[in-house]
Amino acid sequence: MQAIRITDTGGPEVLGLVDVDVPTPGPDEVLVEVAAAGVNFIDTYQRSGVYPMTLPTGLGLEGAGTVVAVGDDVDTRAVGDRVAWTDALGSYGAQHVVRAARTVRVPDGVELDIAAASMLQGCTAHYLATSTHALREDDTALVYAPAGGVGRILIQLAVKRGARVIAVTSTEDKAAIAAGLGADAVIDYTREDIAQRARELTDDRGVDVVYDSVGKATFDASIDSLRPRGLMVLYGGASGQVPPVDLQLLNRKGSLFATRPNLANYVATTDELQWRAGAILDQIATGGLELHVHERYPLADAGRAHADLESGTTAGKLLLLPERDA
Ligand code: NDP
Repeated sequence: MQAIRITDTGGPEVLGLVDVDVPTPGPDEVLVEVAAAGVNFIDTYQRSGVYPMTLPTGLGLEGAGTVVAVGDDVDTRAVGDRVAWTDALGSYGAQHVVRAARTVRVPDGVELDIAAASMLQGCTAHYLATSTHALREDDTALVYAPAGGVGRILIQLAVKRGARVIAVTSTEDKAAIAAGLGADAVIDYTREDIAQRARELTDDRGVDVVYDSVGKATFDASIDSLRPRGLMVLYGGASGQVPPVDLQLLNRKGSLFATRPNLANYVATTDELQWRAGAILDQIATGGLELHVHERYPLADAGRAHADLESGTTAGKLLLLPERDA
């Protein structure tokens, strides 16, 4: 079968399509024919060496497909089940083994590629909006990359919870997407001062919570946008990782709170994974949540997908589709 492997860290060119043996599921695993694998920023951090990996390695944490074999101890999944997952390294491949307990059933009415697109970014948006900070009606949230994978879902969840969203983005097209999803106001950071606008839009109070996925380029502006005792949620580094911060900054800027969360700690148990992923998939199934696929790439074009995601020009989910033998 075909799969993406890296033998060295580096740019998108290190992603190589190779022929490998079909893996055999262990006792608690299932073998899945992958319909689609999701491309996420963490894959680019792993590829480039920002997050160290043992090499050689496959890439891709997220996908969806149909179970084609089950391990001896698995009684919760059967051949033919449609499943999705969010934390199984090596998902960029035609087939993949996943621990049965880490798979989620895909409801009827949700296509497998949409399920693949919704898992990692959907669960992330879910924990950000419900757990890192449980958004309420009187909250104002500053949301970066509102037209992106996580951003689009986060805005929709925030609006459903009654929060007011101020989106921060780079183009008119993306601003229109954010407004269409329910953002109350949009800041164009290419021509506006983020913190100044955030203060103007909140009658000089500052926002209650910032969801910052851009990182290095925006951290200072995010801090300056918060109200006293507001919460800084730094959950990504699309522009680069934020350098070490002196905690006295939180004191000087108004007794702020800050957190740097990651998905693994919010879907650590099977129950929590099923709750978050189930909530996202059910809302998609009933039309309550809109997902947008930016582009579907053949598996062989994984490098192009990575370059596109890192360029900052995409708007929505990037998927890799394995080719099926005729
Ligand atoms: P997006 O689809 O949001 O793409 C990234 C966006 O970031 C761009 O489209 C762009 O939007 C913005 N951006 C600003 N500056 C840059 C830059 N210098 N280079 C590239 N992009 C830039 O990606 P994802 O939804 O996949 O991920 C968003 C972020 O969330 C990533 O940082 C990722 O690491 C993080 N993440 C964190 C998780 C966690 O649990 N902590 C889990 C999942 C994702 P614009 O033009 O609007 O500024």
